[in-house]
Amino acid sequence: MADGVTIKILGSGTSTGVPVVGCSCDVCRSTETRNQRSRCSALLSWGGYHVLIDSSPDLRQQCLSHGITQVDAVLYTHNHADHVHGIDDLRVLNGSPDRPLAVYGAQQLIQHLSSSFRYAFESQSKVGFRPRLKGVVIADTLSLFGRKIVPIRLLHGDETALGYRVGDLAYLTDCSAVPEESVARLQGLRVLVIDGLRFRNHPTHFSVSQAIDFAQKLKAERVVLTHLSHDVDYRLHQQLLPKSVEFAYDGLIFCNRRSSRS
Ligand SMILES: [Zn+2]
Ligand SMILES: [Zn+2]
Ligand SMILES: [Zn+2]
Repeated sequence: MADGVTIKILGSGTSTGVPVVGCSCDVCRSTETRNQRSRCSALLSWGGYHVLIDSSPDLRQQCLSHGITQVDAVLYTHNHADHVHGIDDLRVLNGSPDRPLAVYGAQQLIQHLSSSFRYAFESQSKVGFRPRLKGVVIADTLSLFGRKIVPIRLLHGDETALGYRVGDLAYLTDCSAVPEESVARLQGLRVLVIDGLRFRNHPTHFSVSQAIDFAQKLKAERVVLTHLSHDVDYRLHQQLLPKSVEFAYDGLIFCNRRSSRS
């Protein structure tokens, strides 16, 4: 599918990653590779371009594991550390070294990045080997390398995060509710990747059942739960899910069905 979009789950884990340091529960001690979850991130690819969603603290290892050597843009969801703190590793990934790498996000996110990681955004810097980044505030739908990227506003507890839709794929991590205007942007999905942290409720994340309820209202054909905690045992719990729903794991990849551009 030369013209299609693929999405690869680079990290399917919650903010601690799984195994959790110091934890000796069955999942953290499991040898099942699908229970070993790096911090949440994904890679969209089409037409030879690679667009990273978030720079997790595990970005370096994710690149080594999946043979990623360049990215052409970064879409950020929000400014929590588990989605941002691999930002320095972007220095070796810029696909066009003569230009700064464009990083996209909501205004608050771009402000946060450019103050917290100022050395990466300054045009003149004494720091030699550094990421050279250009922040771009997302106002609404944007076009990237011939594809339409639709930002999806999400509620993440008292804060907001952005999800992204490309064609009939949508990636919605870190959310506890989806406003009505965003629901309207999520019709006709083939693949929905969505936050499904754990079975118990959580103030800032959908639980597994809340995510499934929401996805079923949308009638998404395939639902992939991500940002998973160590409460989720892949083999044990996968079999309890409805047929169209699955747990994400690091390295899971899928592509859109339609080859037409949208
Ligand atoms: Zn997170
Ligand atoms: Zn554990
Ligand atoms: Zn978060």
